[in-house]
Amino acid sequence: MIAGLPIADPQFWIVTATVAIAVALAVRRVVRSLRRESARPCASCSRARAVPSTPWSPRWARPRLPVVALVAVLAPVGAAATTVERQVEVMGTTLRVEVEGADRTAALAVAESLLREVEATERRLSTWRDDSELAALNAAPAGTWRALSAETFAALAGAWSCAERTGGAFDPTLAPLVAAWGLRTGGRLPSATELAAARAATGPERLALDAGRRRVGKRSQVTIDEGAFGKGAALDAALAADSSAGFVRIDLGGQLAWRGAPAPQTVALADPRDRGRPALDLTLAAERGSLATSGDGERRFAVGGETFGHLLDPRTGRPARDFGSVVVAAASGLEADCLSTALFVLGPELGARWLAGAGRGVEAVYLVVESGRLRALATAGLAGGLRPRAEDIEIEILESSS
Ligand code: FAD
Ligand code: MG
Repeated sequence: MIAGLPIADPQFWIVTATVAIAVALAVRRVVRSLRRESARPCASCSRARAVPSTPWSPRWARPRLPVVALVAVLAPVGAAATTVERQVEVMGTTLRVEVEGADRTAALAVAESLLREVEATERRLSTWRDDSELAALNAAPAGTWRALSAETFAALAGAWSCAERTGGAFDPTLAPLVAAWGLRTGGRLPSATELAAARAATGPERLALDAGRRRVGKRSQVTIDEGAFGKGAALDAALAADSSAGFVRIDLGGQLAWRGAPAPQTVALADPRDRGRPALDLTLAAERGSLATSGDGERRFAVGGETFGHLLDPRTGRPARDFGSVVVAAASGLEADCLSTALFVLGPELGARWLAGAGRGVEAVYLVVESGRLRALATAGLAGGLRPRAEDIEIEILESSS
């Protein structure tokens, strides 16, 4: 961006070139008529003899040539790029898709296929209903194997590799803890016994994944909670299902995914002190990717005067310390989703160390509330694109090992 001019936008150059041509033609026309005027002392003369016509613009078009040229050049561009938006409720949250396409019908068809893919993922992964593949797996007895669809197996494989990469900070098997804390029913305080029993029933090692036969085996009783990877898996499935050209942007309950971005885009990051207020603008240059945020935000609950969040630390079985929020940018939706949860659970200090060793491809910014002020601790890859939207926000760059 120079002085607000979208120089990265090809349309900008098309329009600029057209205007330049139009102006040049207009000037030439004026000069010619002035010369004619100057050549001939009388006004009537000018009408007698016309300027020779050019090959591609008929006589009636001449006076309006600049205008026509403008329309001729702009018309296809203006007409070609159309954006459609669709919004539905799914996964207990709002899904919004935006598709920029060659024409409205094509863009609508793409939007429809994206919605359908997210809804199909919900039917496969949702444990808020008992007819999904994951609900059936959760209900299956220990010691049994279950073959899964390619999509569900891929989602579980992604979740299990994320659990491994984060040393268990992200753990898809902590459904017993989600139940113990009543996260789906408004929150409750589990007794020490309940907590111990729930903790004893979690751990990714309880499930075996057999990629060759696309099946999973329950080594002991294990129950999966898709809350921190299901939305990401749905976004990946949606973008994978449709390969049409054009700019696609999806917002699933606050997690973003996009493809075919014609130019860097700017998104507002919510202030964890007041989620309705933007704290920073983040400009993302990647043509495709996903951005996920984890924080207790609107999912806090209070019991006995104490406030708890919905992000659980598998190391303790209790809600993780609420310091603010963390935003992760990654190539895939599932990776961004599960890593934002894991980095929240690890907290800013351990999270910064994990990020330093994570290598390229994962970027993050921690929004940490300290005595009312907000510190934004960002990896180098994101820091350059951050702009504070309020006075009391400091941006710091996290150390990286590379
Ligand atoms: P994230 O940080 O991505 O995930 C937090 C959630 O993950 C927690 O709520 C908990 O479930 C789980 N979790 C907590 N700690 C950990 C941890 N350490 N490791 C792994 N997981 C953890 N909500 C409804 O109210 N009604 C519905 O019908 C409904 N259906 C859904 C169907 C699907 C397929 C999915 C994926 C979610 C559904 N949800 C539903 C949940 C809803 O969309 C939540 O908002 C969402 O899961 C929370 O995501 P988040 O990105 O805000 O937080
Ligand atoms: Mg998430």
